Amino acid sequence: MVEHQLKARGIKDERVLAAMETVQRHLFVDERLRDRAYDDCAHSIGEGQTISQPYMVAVMTELLELKGDEKVLEIGTGSGYQGAVLSILASEVFTVERLRPLALKVQVLYRELGYSNIHVITGDGTLGLPGQAPFDGIIVTAAAPRVPDVLTDQLKTGGRLVIPVGSRYSQVLYQVKKTASGISTALSTGCVFVPLIGKNGWQDNS
Ligand code: SAM
Repeated sequence: MVEHQLKARGIKDERVLAAMETVQRHLFVDERLRDRAYDDCAHSIGEGQTISQPYMVAVMTELLELKGDEKVLEIGTGSGYQGAVLSILASEVFTVERLRPLALKVQVLYRELGYSNIHVITGDGTLGLPGQAPFDGIIVTAAAPRVPDVLTDQLKTGGRLVIPVGSRYSQVLYQVKKTASGISTALSTGCVFVPLIGKNGWQDNS
């Protein structure tokens, strides 16, 4: 996975590559999918949600530009895989999931696997996590209609927000940086994520 899907496609951050070499992705998918866990695609994790393609996890993580001492917020815990990668690369990770069954499952999994610097919270991540802000990095792993101001407000100066923005069906990955002189946005690759549902995201149509 690391050689053929990540390095071959231009992922360069050695820390990201090492973290994705370390985290055992097959532990974050259903048992029946374990032999396909390292395939070059997203997989269903139940509740209509997905574990993202390894390459997309790597691109997003690289865009966070983590050095090791950061406090990071993930919105969209899903399977817990992205959070596990982040926990190796940052000092403290908060991850918010709106669907309680997924959040509870990941909480148990992290405890079993010994990931002690990740905190799983059930709630609407489009509100951020004001009680823990500001963050060095915020990563949104679901598709947003726009960049929520509340999230840039919760970034430290110098912080990075990585978020897929677009329609419900197709998006572009944004890297938003907060500097002393304001906000700058760089566009990365095209992508397709499940919708970010919440006050500052899409409405729940289910
Ligand atoms: N990062 C995940 C992983 O490593 O498996 C993949 C996340 S999946 C593509 C998107 C997740 O975002 C889903 O679990 C979904 O329930 C969650 N989600 C959608 N809207 C949300 C919101 N407002 N707050 C928190 N989680 C949300």
